[in-house]
Amino acid sequence: MRVVCKLLVLAEFLAVSTISLALSSPNDAYPTGCGDEVGACVGSSDDLRPLRREVYEYGQIFDITHQFNPNTPVGDSDEGIGQFLTLLSSMKNGSDYNFSELRLGVHAGTHVDAPGHMFADYYDAGFDVDSLDLRVLNGPALVVDVPRDKNLTADVMQSLHIPKGVKRVLFRTLNTDRRLMFKKAFDTSYVGFMKDGAQWLVDNTDIKLVGIDYLSVAAFDDLLPAHHVFLKSREIILVEGLKLDDIEAGIYTVHLILSSSKEALEIASNKKKCCKGDMF
Ligand SMILES: [Zn+2]
Repeated sequence: MRVVCKLLVLAEFLAVSTISLALSSPNDAYPTGCGDEVGACVGSSDDLRPLRREVYEYGQIFDITHQFNPNTPVGDSDEGIGQFLTLLSSMKNGSDYNFSELRLGVHAGTHVDAPGHMFADYYDAGFDVDSLDLRVLNGPALVVDVPRDKNLTADVMQSLHIPKGVKRVLFRTLNTDRRLMFKKAFDTSYVGFMKDGAQWLVDNTDIKLVGIDYLSVAAFDDLLPAHHVFLKSREIILVEGLKLDDIEAGIYTVHLILSSSKEALEIASNKKKCCKGDMF
């Protein structure tokens, strides 16, 4: 099976320029989408109904990002991201074009953490997403299943037997089973890295890309310490809020498309046919 993961990530503390909209309301910005019901698009024929796919090429390409909608969870809030798109110019109101404005915290949905997210001196020095290594953001990756009832401690990390040489790992956890990214209220009981698990990863693996399936790679009880361990070297990139529901554990190629104020990037390549350590 050849599998390619496409990943759209939003830039930490930079403006976001790419987004998709899942739900609609009378005040939603264009495009409104048509929902899942056939005929839900008033005034539209079926051939004008957009096809919103997350799996392509019969399971060879997966979009592992979450669509944004007003109920998309965000840290420290029970209310989700709320109304985040506004239609400033509408063709229905006589404009020659539709033009929307996006207002969104950048730590929402599927996103990366930049080093400046957790270190004031890194922030002041400009270590934003444009400082991230594109070679880390694209390439072979492992998707691993984490024991379902545990945070990512040193013991759990050791039990996963991730080979040396592997540079990118997406951790699928109980968060996926609980569908936490589909629940509006931020849930502090999510699974994540404890400080000792993060330290074990830094000390014993070659992993430079850490992905997880909720809004923080760090468990709530070790929120700052685990982040500090990961981000201190500025070599490890954290990807949070992944959609791994239908992704089996195994070897993939991951592609991160960063949307920031300065750049957007997409690189395509195929799954490697074998699993030598130096390929990661
Ligand atoms: Zn984080």
